[in-house]
Amino acid sequence: MSAPVLDTLLVANRGEIACRVMRTAKALGLTTVAVHSATDRDARHSREADIRVDLGGSKAADSYLQIDKLIAAAQASGAQAIHPGYGFLSENAGFARAIEAAGLIFLGPPASAIDAMGSKSAAKALMETAGVPLVPGYHGEAQDLETFRNAAERIGYPVLLKATAGGGGKGMKVVEEVSQLAEALASAQREAQSSFGDSRMLVEKYLLKPRHVEIQVFADQHGNCLYLNERDCSIQRRHQKVVEEAPAPGLSPELRKAMGEAAVRAAQAIGYVGAGTVEFLLDARGEFFFMEMNTRLQVEHPVTEAITGLDLVAWQIRVARGEALPISQEQVPLRGHAIEVRLYAEDPANDFLPATGHLELYRESAAGPGRRVDSGVEEGDSVSPFYDPMLGKLIAWGEDREQARLRLLSMLDEFVIGGLKTNLAFLRRIIAHPAFAEAQLDTGFIPRYQEQLLPAASELGTDFWQAAAHAFNQSQPQRTRSDDPDSPWSAVNGWRNGLPAQISLHLSCAGQDQAISLGARTTAFDLQGEHLRIEQQGLRREHRAIRRGDTLYLHWQGDTHGITAHDPITAAAASHSQQGGLTAPMNGSIVRVLVSPGQSVEAGAQLVVLEAMKMEHSIRAPQAGIIKALYCQEGEMVSEGSALVELE
Ligand code: ADP
Repeated sequence: MSAPVLDTLLVANRGEIACRVMRTAKALGLTTVAVHSATDRDARHSREADIRVDLGGSKAADSYLQIDKLIAAAQASGAQAIHPGYGFLSENAGFARAIEAAGLIFLGPPASAIDAMGSKSAAKALMETAGVPLVPGYHGEAQDLETFRNAAERIGYPVLLKATAGGGGKGMKVVEEVSQLAEALASAQREAQSSFGDSRMLVEKYLLKPRHVEIQVFADQHGNCLYLNERDCSIQRRHQKVVEEAPAPGLSPELRKAMGEAAVRAAQAIGYVGAGTVEFLLDARGEFFFMEMNTRLQVEHPVTEAITGLDLVAWQIRVARGEALPISQEQVPLRGHAIEVRLYAEDPANDFLPATGHLELYRESAAGPGRRVDSGVEEGDSVSPFYDPMLGKLIAWGEDREQARLRLLSMLDEFVIGGLKTNLAFLRRIIAHPAFAEAQLDTGFIPRYQEQLLPAASELGTDFWQAAAHAFNQSQPQRTRSDDPDSPWSAVNGWRNGLPAQISLHLSCAGQDQAISLGARTTAFDLQGEHLRIEQQGLRREHRAIRRGDTLYLHWQGDTHGITAHDPITAAAASHSQQGGLTAPMNGSIVRVLVSPGQSVEAGAQLVVLEAMKMEHSIRAPQAGIIKALYCQEGEMVSEGSALVELE
């Protein structure tokens, strides 16, 4: 049998995984084909492909889940193979079959293997016969309350109800005692029915403080199957992974081998081919239990790549071409340590609600040894509500765990995102947490340290406002009077006749307002390009400070803050001008009069400058016209509501 030709690859996905798969495909000399929805026409994965095909639609169901359109796209573009990425159709046996029926190659396992692992219950039954340890539980056909009550009694509370068709942590309910069972079962069944169209449940012992440890397996078409070490994915929120690392801290070589061999047995039991992951729960005594098998490349595969030096996508392509795995189990490398975090557009302070919007500012951490960023966006892109809100992943490798952790921290510190809420600061707090540093990992980590990881919004300190004010001021587009640019009056540096330079700014940030005066101080603030240098007593620190339109983004203690001018006078003036008339919006003094009677002015022209609350405020012409009368002069104190100018 000659090897199939595979020189053009279609990726039936979007975002970071589409970009990541195409990167390897390109490196191997393949032509890449992206598919995109109407919303994603200009998304990064479409931009980076050699060929792109428009699927139309916005919702996944109308675009990335359209099997017929995907196959037609492959045929039209000359792709011989389809990589499904993760999510979407990656674990859809019907998709795998349709691809095969069209004479194309599916870069995943045989459809039969997907079927075998598609139901958690069926997978468990299969694993039981393959001698893979299971969490004590019940995964049978009968679904009545009595059966579940007896099973729960037998395994002992607390128990966990799970949807057999479940995924992504949906349809799962912890039951503490028998009195809660009936209600929890009914509720979980309803949730499963609405999420997966299948209400069937299984029940298992709810392990307290387990670790989630999973094994990466890889099989070729010649019956060889390897385990490529493990990943610890215990740091989860609502049963979804947030941080993953490899190897699992503290795992003995014996346990690694036992888990690895169990995973290989699981894969071989279903005739597996390609990349797959067998997930286990590991309890405090070192006992491990099969949870499920994911029959695809996983989000967290880069940590395995980092410690093995292997490219799993390259292996997927080679295996699809019929090549045998190039190494034996003894040759699988394990070098150093790697940690990954998932960067989401979401609001951790608001129950991790997905965030949508425009990435006004988006700067990834610098490239370097041991650093990897897999992302699917660039500055200027939009995050739509239609798809998963993951922006990308940051992966750090080090000689040991602490080096990887510190490297990841510095990557997180360099990452700057403005215009959209993200979990960046939350991730930073996890990685910086002493319990994480000590590798005290279990699935209760985030709930346990909730208060430290998600602190209530605190008052921004004086240091912050000083830095914000200086950076904001120095990032202002230089406004000068065109008629006399050299006059000190034209500069916006606070110069005033006979007085020390003094500028007051009113700024807003994260719902807080502050008036700050920039007087002479012992601290020097100097905005150089995109960095604010703060020098105090011989110590100089730098903070990212980048201006985008009216907003200054300042990176401060692990978070990017969007700072805008808050102008109480404009706010007052706005409500005032609705009442008509060029009058003083507040009590203040007239510092400049820029027009004289009879002069014609354009709409928006500056007429009079009023100083109030230590800030200057311009009274502007609401429309073009001629100055009919002036009722004020420089230096004069005026009271709120008094007429200043009459415009015709
Ligand atoms: P899903 O397919 O919805 O992701 P999983 O079965 O993979 O669900 O479980 C997701 C997570 O839920 C696990 O990583 C673990 O944190 C937790 N979990 C699952 N089963 C148990 C159990 N029996 N005891 C304790 N925690 C569990």
